[in-house]
Amino acid sequence: MVKGKEIVLSGIRSTGNLHLGNYFGAIRNFIKMQHEYNCYFFIADYHSLTTHPHPKDLHANVKQVLVEYLACGIDPEVATIYIQSDLPEVAELYLLLNMNAYVGELERSTTFKEKVRKQPDNVNAGLLTYPVLMAADILIHRASYVPVGKDQEQHLEMARTFGNRFNRMYESELFPEPVAFNFGAQLVKIPGLDGTGKMGKSEGEGNAIFLADGPEVIRKKVMRAVTDEGPKMENQQKPEVIQNLFTMMNVVSRQETVQHFEEQYNTMKIRYGDLKKQLAEDVIAFAAPLRDKILELSANDAYLQKVAFEGADKARESASKTLSEARRLIGFRSF
Ligand code: ATP
Ligand code: MG
Repeated sequence: MVKGKEIVLSGIRSTGNLHLGNYFGAIRNFIKMQHEYNCYFFIADYHSLTTHPHPKDLHANVKQVLVEYLACGIDPEVATIYIQSDLPEVAELYLLLNMNAYVGELERSTTFKEKVRKQPDNVNAGLLTYPVLMAADILIHRASYVPVGKDQEQHLEMARTFGNRFNRMYESELFPEPVAFNFGAQLVKIPGLDGTGKMGKSEGEGNAIFLADGPEVIRKKVMRAVTDEGPKMENQQKPEVIQNLFTMMNVVSRQETVQHFEEQYNTMKIRYGDLKKQLAEDVIAFAAPLRDKILELSANDAYLQKVAFEGADKARESASKTLSEARRLIGFRSF
């Protein structure tokens, strides 16, 4: 933690193993940013409760994300890594912010509407107020930059709204306006292997390649990826399912390899079997060292405990400052 640097915050829900999309869409940015900003990376276990995980799975899910953060190269000596539920300050700020977040605006969130459609039997209040908790996550450290994927832009807008509203109500400048951040070029979206949409932790078996997958599993998943009958004419535009394989190849393979298969496609000589074999080997070469580290770290509970404890301590220092300032502005006084 370095004083004077701008503050960055981001988190990943502990809802399953991390995949190539999380790596190239989020964690790769985290690793670069940690050296240039004052970074907080957390594991969003309160957020995972909206889908009612079984109590026996909750801790293992948190551990998996912690291990994978570290395996990918987030350095706990440089960035602050912590578990959301280790900071009750976040829950208190969430309560305070809920008082001036309006039901109408929360109901208009696209993610909320989507969840209502997808899980009509479990439309809990936590789903509705998810953006308030996300705002609390960001505002508790008075963060300016939030490296997240495209899917989070609307939530971030709401965090700005809640922060600004608080500032206006209490005539303060407590909360800066957080903005989305991406290092370098355009945002990447890694597609799922089932041909449409994005790779996701909870999109079902076979859609995602996990960082912890072994070579055999990766080969099987890639070989099963959806394709079509092949190009019908030279230099044609690629349909989505084929473009997806190239998008993945672009992040894991050498440029010459990508160019070779582009040429094969454009001259209609391509054999998807060859493309997939190469893609599988390149994914394996990328994932193998991460997998080794994941296995090694998973066995080192003493180290994980140390990282989690120290991270919580550092995060709490910043969180409690913001919270007491918010309480003071609202008018709470002790006798
Ligand atoms: P879930 O299915 O539980 O929502 P997820 O795989 O979408 O899981 P999140 O925890 O929602 O993962 O997101 C973590 C981070 O990874 C976010 O910054 C998100 O934008 C990014 N991300 C998730 N999936 C992809 C993807 N396929 N391509 C690029 N970035 C992604
Ligand atoms: Mg998601």
